[in-house]
Amino acid sequence: RNDADYTTEFVSESVVDVTGYPAEDFVKHGRHLENIIHPDDRQRVRTEIQTALPKNKPFELTYRITTATGAQRWVSERGRGVCDAGGRLQALEGIVDDCTDRQQAQEALRESEAKYRGLIEQASDGIVISGAQGDILLANSSWCELLGYTKDELVGMNMRETYLEEEKQTHAERLKQVAAGQTLRFERVVKRRDGSTFPAEVSLRMLNDRSVQGIFHDITSRRAQEHKIVRLSRIHAVLSGINSAIVRIRDRQELFKEACRIAVEHGRFNIGWIAVLDRASGKLMAVAQAGLPIDLATDDDSSGRCAGLVPTGAAEVALREKRPAFDNDIERVLPGMPGSGPDTFGVRRAAVRLGAKSAVVLPLYVEGETFGVLTLYAPERDFFDDAEIKLLTELAGDISFGLEFIAKEEKADYLAYYDALSGLPNRSLFFDRLTHQLGAAARDGLNVALVLMDIDRFRLVNDSLGRQAGDALISAVARRITDTFRDQDTVARVGPNSFAVAVSGTWQAADAARVLESHTRQLFGRPFLLEKEELRMSASAGVAVFPGDGDSPEALFGNAEAALKKAKAGGERLLFYSPGMNARVADSLRLENKLRRAVDHSELVLWYQPKVSVRTREILGFEALMRWRDPESTLMVPPAQFIPLMEQTGLILEAGSWAMAQVARDCHTWSASGMKLPRVAVNVSPIQLRQKDFVATVIEAAHKTKEAGSMLDIEITESVIMENVEAIIPLLQGVRNLGVEIAVDDFGTGYSSLAYIARLPIHDLKIDRSFVVGMTSNEDSLAIVRSVISLAHSLRLKVVAEGVETEEQASLLLELGCDVMQGYLISRPVAPEQIPDLVRQQHLAIRDAPAKQVSSARKKAAGTKPSVKRR
Ligand code: C2E
Ligand code: CA
Ligand code: CA
Repeated sequence: RNDADYTTEFVSESVVDVTGYPAEDFVKHGRHLENIIHPDDRQRVRTEIQTALPKNKPFELTYRITTATGAQRWVSERGRGVCDAGGRLQALEGIVDDCTDRQQAQEALRESEAKYRGLIEQASDGIVISGAQGDILLANSSWCELLGYTKDELVGMNMRETYLEEEKQTHAERLKQVAAGQTLRFERVVKRRDGSTFPAEVSLRMLNDRSVQGIFHDITSRRAQEHKIVRLSRIHAVLSGINSAIVRIRDRQELFKEACRIAVEHGRFNIGWIAVLDRASGKLMAVAQAGLPIDLATDDDSSGRCAGLVPTGAAEVALREKRPAFDNDIERVLPGMPGSGPDTFGVRRAAVRLGAKSAVVLPLYVEGETFGVLTLYAPERDFFDDAEIKLLTELAGDISFGLEFIAKEEKADYLAYYDALSGLPNRSLFFDRLTHQLGAAARDGLNVALVLMDIDRFRLVNDSLGRQAGDALISAVARRITDTFRDQDTVARVGPNSFAVAVSGTWQAADAARVLESHTRQLFGRPFLLEKEELRMSASAGVAVFPGDGDSPEALFGNAEAALKKAKAGGERLLFYSPGMNARVADSLRLENKLRRAVDHSELVLWYQPKVSVRTREILGFEALMRWRDPESTLMVPPAQFIPLMEQTGLILEAGSWAMAQVARDCHTWSASGMKLPRVAVNVSPIQLRQKDFVATVIEAAHKTKEAGSMLDIEITESVIMENVEAIIPLLQGVRNLGVEIAVDDFGTGYSSLAYIARLPIHDLKIDRSFVVGMTSNEDSLAIVRSVISLAHSLRLKVVAEGVETEEQASLLLELGCDVMQGYLISRPVAPEQIPDLVRQQHLAIRDAPAKQVSSARKKAAGTKPSVKRR
């Protein structure tokens, strides 16, 4: 009732249940509900009711009461005022429910939420809570600090903004995965407010069905640690690589090269390079490098890469203070240095171009003396600090140790394997090398001739002229042997007065016999000059040939010794172990004598083969080809059977001059018969070219030919020209000035550099017969012929095809634009007497038939019968 005391008129059973007081207490004994409200809540309840009632509004309250048992319960009360018809408030009514359970749950939740917020706030990791689309709802201070935002700035911000542009798509995908219930853990680059970034390990999970929790852990220092470990292990790899190289390698230069290679390949340095200090100039000279696309030792440019440079910067420090010195930012420009940091080597600029960011220079020393530096360029800025430097110091120390070891060993090695007097390998090194040489020969199918040579009566020199003269003689013989044989032949001193040579090759036994014969003759044909004494010496030699005369070094050597013994006993200069070989030597000597006679008794003749225009088949010239009319034989001997021997014996010089003079004589005969003379070419041997009077000989012959009304040309094989281009250019120039045209013979069989060909004063390239033969069946040959023709034309050279035998070849050559051809199709080489007829016939043929018409009555090339084919 709405009286002063709010007298209670009725309570329901539920109130009795909730409060524990019987109904009479309220209704009869004046206990009021207000009396049992918790004192802390009482005022609030009263105020709320009093404000609600006048407005006639229902109220809803939750408060605590103390029950009859003294326990505290939460109740909720929904109530309203009850008015009479006049609108005056009569009473209050309400329903009271026990809501203790619910209330306690809410309380607990509030408490835990506060705790959770507190936890989030205190966490050192950044924690951020965002909506399902990434809009930020809440973030802790650590997160804000980490990313450089204030809490106010987070309003309206999306997580997307913390991603790098290229990773924004990833963000969307991650949100989808998280929404599907996954917890994600990943590392990513986080973008700060100011645009800078840091690496973070992030875990993402759904917090409830509408929000996502992200925890960010900054892993900058962990990354740095990892990088450090990677860096150190890279240096460790280099260190162990170089240590094993030191154990393996017995050669200083090779160790340098290997050290640089290991640094680049195992250490992933951009460049490793070693420079040696030149004591005289104080400059650094590059000796090895890896990683640079140039060869430091030979390439030079304006930056002075290889030319010795005065050490500056880190290199200067490293050399002066004998400790590693580094530059952790080589891109930086230092004041006072023109455009660069410590660019000691000029390599710096190249290194920067290759992506290098820092460099270290390690001093290398032998026996405490600094002699050079190893420089390493790394692709990371700030690569080097104390830990790296400690390892690198060790590295430099190991290399230096290796070098000292090599230096000592080189000395010992040298004495163990070389003969100090002659400087040649000794017997034990010779066997070592011979073993290798025989292995290689067996693999490549080569022969090896082992020549053992004894200087005759050497004791006599020692006894009569003294030890010193004996020593001088040995040195002189050693020098002459080294000069006579090729570099790839193994030469050694195997006894007090004996030498051994091992010669590999594809030669036939007879060739070997001749070569060795002439070599031994060259060796002892001239006297040796000792002080003022001139000594004529002779030697005996025994030869055994691998594999026939022995397939092990010992067997071969033993048989060569046996042959030598026999030679000495029989007073022979050179004896082969196998009797067959000796017979061949004899044959070759006999042939040599016969050839000498052939040259002297004019048993040689020149036959001539026409060269014709591919288009018109008109004769443009002749090639003179030598033949030997051997009186003991009814056949003409072809040059392949005697020219090689003439070249070995030097007879080719005489025969060559004869050929040039003979051309002039034949021209005279022809012009006397009223024939119109084309040009005539002679083949010139490489031996002739090496002769000092070569140009003079050609000049004389060219004059005589001119007098006869023709012009002399020469043909030189491609291989000769390439042997010595520089020396040959002036020679050819001299010859050409007379109007002599020069053809490069057998073109395509050698390895001509086009750059050289372009520089030579030549007129024609003669495509070797093998390509012409292959042309119609083989794509490669065709491609070669085609490219030779276009190359020659671009160099303004004429192309001559050799050995044309079929119309098919001829028409293909016509198609390819070849200028001149030569071969059995047109004519075999013929005797000079037949030339006037041949020329006349050809003349008639061309006059009578238009060039394009194909003659059905094509004659077959018939032996030496002069005939010129036409279409
Ligand atoms: P070469 O200078 O390449 O001469 C071309 C060779 O091919 C000649 O052989 C010639 O008879 C042959 N030949 C020409 N047309 C055909 C053909 O259609 N089919 C075939 N199968 N062969 C053809 P030859 O006369 O036996 O001469 C061989 C080599 O001897 C020459 O090769 C040249 O290098 C050398 N030679 C010849 N005469 C002399 C000379 O007077 N002095 C020097 N130093 N060498 C010569
Ligand atoms: Ca020729
Ligand atoms: Ca040829």
